[in-house]
Amino acid sequence: MDSLPDYIYFDHAATTPVLPDVVQEMSTCLNKFYGNPSEPHLPGREANKILQNSKQTIGKAMNCSPEQIIFTSGATESNNLAIFGAAEAYQKKGNHIITSSIEHPSAIMPLRRLQRKGFEVTYIPVDANGIIDPEEVRRAIRPETVMASIMHANNIFGTIEPIAQIGNILKERGIVFHSDAAQTFCNIDIDAEKLNVDLLSISGHKFYGPKGIGALYIRKGTRIMPQLFGGGQQRGVRPGTENIPAVAGLAKACQIGQRNLVANIIKVTVLREYLIEKALNSIEDIRLCGHPVKRLPGNCCFILKNISGKAMVAELDKASIAVSGSSACAASSIKPASAITSLGISCDEAVGSVRISLGFENTLKEIDYFLKVFPPIVNKLRSGL
Ligand SMILES: *Cc1c(COP(=O)(O)O)cnc(C)c1O
Repeated sequence: MDSLPDYIYFDHAATTPVLPDVVQEMSTCLNKFYGNPSEPHLPGREANKILQNSKQTIGKAMNCSPEQIIFTSGATESNNLAIFGAAEAYQKKGNHIITSSIEHPSAIMPLRRLQRKGFEVTYIPVDANGIIDPEEVRRAIRPETVMASIMHANNIFGTIEPIAQIGNILKERGIVFHSDAAQTFCNIDIDAEKLNVDLLSISGHKFYGPKGIGALYIRKGTRIMPQLFGGGQQRGVRPGTENIPAVAGLAKACQIGQRNLVANIIKVTVLREYLIEKALNSIEDIRLCGHPVKRLPGNCCFILKNISGKAMVAELDKASIAVSGSSACAASSIKPASAITSLGISCDEAVGSVRISLGFENTLKEIDYFLKVFPPIVNKLRSGL
């Protein structure tokens, strides 16, 4: 057999490998630019220059000015800061928040906490393809609605939401709009202006950057109460000495991602369509989850009857292929299966979901290998052997 890499990585929605140029950039920073960016001396100024240049790079990529970018430890923190920060800043105006039924746990958990503190939260359902209808958002608006938080694209089944239209409706009513763009930034084109958002969360490790670093875009004029208190870094919105090597790595990954954006979208979409078509034709009782075309370039999320996602992940891992699958779906927990049940799929069925998320470094050969080993695995698991 032709040589294959030791292990096939098809789990880019969970995290991506770090690009060599990003590692290089971070290593240079760790070695040379150790200064505290708040200090006025040369090492401090050098570190600060990296910080400012990085804000410029991220800002340019999402069409906003660098002052509107706040670095955080990732999309979990960005979502927490956006949701708690805006709820607190606007609580005198009202206590109602709009969200969707398919948000990431790092948005749902802060919202549940706000509910326990007296906020009212409306969870907008999605259609069978995972799309949120902007008109449903319009109907959910009350006089006391202060914020909406709706993700740009779902991490499990990959549907891309009509954020620009939703944002337009919210803008007319003066409601702060946050979107979790962890799955989309540097994976599809993003423009904070065109999306009509006030707050946007991103995460470095979802676009070939390091883990533990992300950012929150805050539109000029949008108020956010800090959730951490300390020094005055980042205008006091998110104090703490900035992680310069991680920030530089994030900016480098963004720069490369922007440069290759169109080529990567085309490449990954072609791979995805190939995989989906072949899988649907070669396996029985399989169907695609999420929207057929309005989906993340690399997302292939399938439901297979009479099989457990967990078992498929384990078997594919034995065959040296990394994918993601859902485990049991309990009503109280936020598991991949609960996002899938929002599509109108029963709990029993949702347990048989498997997500293959591709990246630009994947090849047709890897997909062919997957397509060769996957059907026998499905048959084996279904026959209970
Ligand atoms: C990965 C992810 C997050 C969490 O990002 P971290 O940087 O790992 O905290 C949040 N939302 C979505 C949609 C994600 O895919």
